[in-house]
Parts: sequence; C-alpha cells; structure tokens
Amino acid sequence: MSSENEGVETICPYCGVGCGLTLQEGEEPGEVSLKPWFDAPVNEGALCIKGGASPQVVNHEDRLKTPLIREDGEFREATWDEALELTVSELERIRDEHDPDAVGFFGSSKVMNEENYLLQKLARRYGTNNVDNCTRMCHASTVYTLRQSLGAGAMTNSMADLESHGDVYWVQGANPAEQHVIAHSNYFRRAVRDGATLIQVDPHANKTSRDADIHLQLEPGTDIPLLNVVLHTILEEGLYDEDFVKERTRGFDHLEATLADFDAAAAADTCGVPLEDIQEAARIYAEAENGAIFTGMGMSQHACGVDNVQNEVNLALITGNVGRPGTGVNPLRGQNNVQGTCDVGAMPNVLPGYQNVDDDEAREAVESVWGFEIPPEPGLTNVEVSNAIGDSVHGLYVMGENPVMSEPDALEVEKRIADLEFLVVQDIFMTDTAEFADVILPATSWAERGGTVTNTDRRVQRMRKVTDVPGNTRHDLDILCDVGTRLFGSGFDFDGPEAVFEELREVCPIYHGMTYDRIGREGIQWPCYEPGDEGDQYLYADSFDTEDGLGVVRGVRHQAPDEVPDDEFPLVLTTARLEEHYNTGTMSTRSPTLRRKTPENFVDVHPADAANRGIEDGEYVVLRSRRGEIVLEANVTEDIKEGVVWTTPHFSDARANTLTNDVLDPLAKIPEYKAAAAEVEPV
Ligand code: SF4
Repeated sequence: MSSENEGVETICPYCGVGCGLTLQEGEEPGEVSLKPWFDAPVNEGALCIKGGASPQVVNHEDRLKTPLIREDGEFREATWDEALELTVSELERIRDEHDPDAVGFFGSSKVMNEENYLLQKLARRYGTNNVDNCTRMCHASTVYTLRQSLGAGAMTNSMADLESHGDVYWVQGANPAEQHVIAHSNYFRRAVRDGATLIQVDPHANKTSRDADIHLQLEPGTDIPLLNVVLHTILEEGLYDEDFVKERTRGFDHLEATLADFDAAAAADTCGVPLEDIQEAARIYAEAENGAIFTGMGMSQHACGVDNVQNEVNLALITGNVGRPGTGVNPLRGQNNVQGTCDVGAMPNVLPGYQNVDDDEAREAVESVWGFEIPPEPGLTNVEVSNAIGDSVHGLYVMGENPVMSEPDALEVEKRIADLEFLVVQDIFMTDTAEFADVILPATSWAERGGTVTNTDRRVQRMRKVTDVPGNTRHDLDILCDVGTRLFGSGFDFDGPEAVFEELREVCPIYHGMTYDRIGREGIQWPCYEPGDEGDQYLYADSFDTEDGLGVVRGVRHQAPDEVPDDEFPLVLTTARLEEHYNTGTMSTRSPTLRRKTPENFVDVHPADAANRGIEDGEYVVLRSRRGEIVLEANVTEDIKEGVVWTTPHFSDARANTLTNDVLDPLAKIPEYKAAAAEVEPV
C-alpha cells in the first residue's frame, strides 16, 4: 500500500469514477506529487486533467489553517477549544429555545464514508433527521426511482462488465467524455472501438456526442416524450422481451395504457428531433443482445426527475436488459463519494444501508447499537432546510458543502443563510457559504487523512494519508468526535476511521461483510452482507429487491418544465459541468492548471440568437432569469440549439445558480436545474 520510495495508493478526490493514483510526499512540508498507480482496479493508471492536477490544491496558499470566529462582523483567529465550545453552546441554545428540528446538518460527497456516517449520527443524537447531502442536488430522483422500481439506488452494473459485454450504450443526460473521463476512455470508448454502438441523448453537442453513432439533440425538458417515442416504437413493432416482461416485471399494462393514444410524430416535434432518428435508435437498442443505459443529471435535475428515470427503467425492463453483464440502468455519479454519502445514511429519510427511518424494526436495530432513540419521522431535505430558515430552521452545520453556490435561486439562499442565528462551516477553503459563518472549522484535505469512499459502481475503496496535517487543522472525523463528545458525553469516542467503519458495518447491512483489510487495494462492491461475500458486479440476476421481486414498469407522460419561455424570457437556460472544473469550483478553480484551461464562466449562445441580439462571440453579456442576472462571456456556437442557452455552475463570480429555478420534484425533492426561462443581451 505504501513505502517511503513508492508512495501511497489513494483515490482521486474528484468524480465518482474513483480512479486510483499514487501520491508521494514532496520536499516542502505538505507538498505532494503524483505518479500513476498502474494496476489500480478502475483506471489502470490513467487520469484525466482534474485527477492529474489534484495535488495542486493540497498545499494551496488559500487553505484554512486555523479556526475562525465571527466577532463584530469580522473573522478573528480562535483556538479549537473556543471554536468548538461556541459551536456546542449555540447548538444547545437553539435546541433549548426552539427544538432539535431547528438545526439542519449538511454532509458532503467530497467527504468520506466514516465522516458522513458520524455527521448523520450526530444529527440524530441531537434529535433531528434534518440531515442531507449534495446528492439531493444531483441524483436524488435517480436514487428514488431505482429504489422503488428495482430495489437499490445505485448502478445496476459495473464499468468492467459493461465494457466487456455491452453491445449498445444508451447515454441520456450525461456527458461521460467530459464528466467521467476515464470511464469513457477506459471502458465506453474501448467498447465502441470493438463494435458497440453509442447513442447519446442530450440538448448540448459535446465530446460524448462527437464519439456517438447517434446523437439525439432534444430540447431541454423533453426526455419523457423522447423515451415515449422509443417505448411506443418498441411496443408497436413487437420488439419487447415478452418472457422477461411476463416473468420478471409488473405494470406493463400501465405502460401500454399510457401509450395507447400516443402521437409519436407530435412527441418528436415537442423534442425537436426527427421522428425517424428516434425510431432508429429505439430499434438499435431493442435489438441489442445487451443494451446498457447510462443516466446523468440531465435526467435527474428536473421537477419530473423521478418520472424521467422511470422511463429509462421502463426501457430496460421491457427489453429484458437488466440482471446480466452489459445491461442495466447506470447512474454516472459526479463526486468521489456520492454513492457512499447516501449508503451511510446522510439523508433525512433513511438510516445507513437505505433502511427507512420510519421503519420501526430497522430503526430499533440501529438504536440498539447506538444506544439512543432516533426520531421516527423523516427530516427535511437540504433545499427544504434552506427554505425553512427564519421559519422553523435557525441553525446550520455545514460539512464540505457550499449551498450559497450549489442551491438554486442562489441570491435567495444567500439572504436566508445570512439570516441564520448560527452557522458553522467545516471546510478546507473559504467558500461563498463560509463567508456568512459564525464559526469556521478548518479541516484536512484528501491527502492528509484516511477513510473510505464509494464510487459510481458501488465499489468501496480506501483513501490513505500521505502527508501531515497543515497548520492548526483537524480531520473532519476528529472534529465531529469532539463536537459529539462535548454535546453528549459518549458515543463519539473513536480513535480513527477504521473504528468508525467497524461501527458503520454493524448498522449497514450492505457493508456488513467488509473490513478495511478485505477492502484492501481492489475495493469491494456492495452488497456485501457477510464476511465471505465477494460483492456483486451486477444486480438482479434472479429477482429484483422489491416486495414481490418484480421490476416495476410504470408509464409516464410529458411534463413541461415549470418555467417555459415567454416574451420577457424567450430562451431556455440549461447547465452542465466541464471536464476541467468540479461543482462549485472551491477546489478546481484554485488549481493553476485547471484555471488556465477555463479561467471564467461563459454561456453558449446559438448564432441565430446571438445575431438577433447583436451579440458577438467572446464579448461579455448579461444572462438573466426571473431570479437575477450574471455577467459572463458569450461563446457563440452551434453546439446548442436555437432558443437554448447553456452555462456552467463552477464560478463564484458568475454564479449560474443565481438564475436557476428552485421548483422541486415532488417525490425526490431535487431542484429543476436543467430548465429555466432566460434572456441574454449585450452588457
Ligand atoms: Fe479523477 Fe474522475 Fe478524472 Fe478519474 S475520471 S481522474 S476519478 S476526475
């Protein structure tokens, strides 16, 4: 695992592919350098530009190095004792003056399993289930639908079996060539080179569509009608798998009834895609020996996100493309621990291992290990917590998150965050959110601590400490143990991440068979119920994890985005990430290499829309929605359709989420980031 000469094997801190790399300590304190880990299980030594530049943020001059307390409107340096005493006394005061639900706890997929596990335990010991994480913003609808219709809120298959067995890849609302670069280069592109067909459905032409055999460039927010054309074609032409439908699914009649009077030509028109192109793609997928669906935030981040993903499940189930290598419905996750943060229960409705908090038996089993009662009602999601500030919520504990930039309608979020009675932020850099904090607790980075993360194909992997803790920082885990012990006296006395993992596996059935030793260099894919289990490359070989063991088919109808263009805002704004940046940019915009590649935000504008408004390529423009405006550079391009504008969420000085709509999917409570009415004009 490590030696003085060879360095330390660990995991890239960025996306959910979970690439392994080796870090070596440099000559200066805190400095680290990188070399390939050639037999790493996922990436075999390959890294994208973000992974390659990841050491640049470890020893960055902007790192927070000592606790800060706000006094008379200014931050002053404080001792850990002062900062933690103030945190604990404020949490106690708010609980006494209001109630435990007056505080929200935000975990983060940038943080490891053990730390998110401890944060949700801390929240529940405090007396609230108001604990959530950034997955709410990216794949809450995917997790919801996959749990309801198949059984587990995760990738059904694995990158490795998809590469060797998939014949057709249906990629909708995802751009792996930029956002999951090594998954694309090491798995999908190799498969395509060997004869697999790649179909991409996305409103924006991008690096994935340039590799695709078919690109269906639809209008934002029309994924349901497009997939309904696909499903309708398959039904009409008898291309579905009758035996699989009969033996392994229920609800097929509901789908048939939903599509009984379906007007495919009108639906294709709504999507802005030629009918025959969609039908051709439908036939290719349905006739494949093994067809795999990949889904991304273009599907999940809609007010109809649950139904969007359900239609992908419908497609997989009626063609019998689940339960074998090379098939399934596979969410591509965006952060290195986005799967694990949910697995360990940093969510308001589930305990570790997706056990419902309102399931008495499951709750009591966890209570018997923890030694205290857990509130039986689900708590608020993170956007609901933000919306309740000043009403029922008065305090916020934020670990590694940046809601002022990441939540929709960001100016409103900022105002509410500024109104909190108490805000504590635990992070490695000053963030837009930390600017409003009462206490800032400086944490250690990914290279300075150990623990586990769970990648996009359910692989639990070890991250390892490479270098020493800088300045007066502490590990997230130690901070949480200290806060928990000061608040409750017991239950938070752990001497390191392995001790926390040992407790986690006691209460998390899907991790129960894992230990640090077993995870080793290769990692283990859950479910891993018993110590002898090897973990599963693909799920549902014999039955689904639903009550009756059947996969759920459910027909869905088109729901237009909450905001549609009008005279004042005649364009549709949609957003997506770049290869060289990461989420709210806290880390990636501080990397000289990544910043050089794309130093500031920009908006893609179609040439016809630019000409109508007198906008020249490269000039600064104002991009407006009903909620605010930002100034950024115009990139005039045919990569986007006429009537659509496209920007990125990474830059603090031109925050895309100032513009986005905070309407939520009613079931998964994920915001509609992907479609808002907008206008763009010269500055
Ligand atoms: Fe890191 Fe993802 Fe790039 Fe791999 S693909 S190096 S995990 S950012």
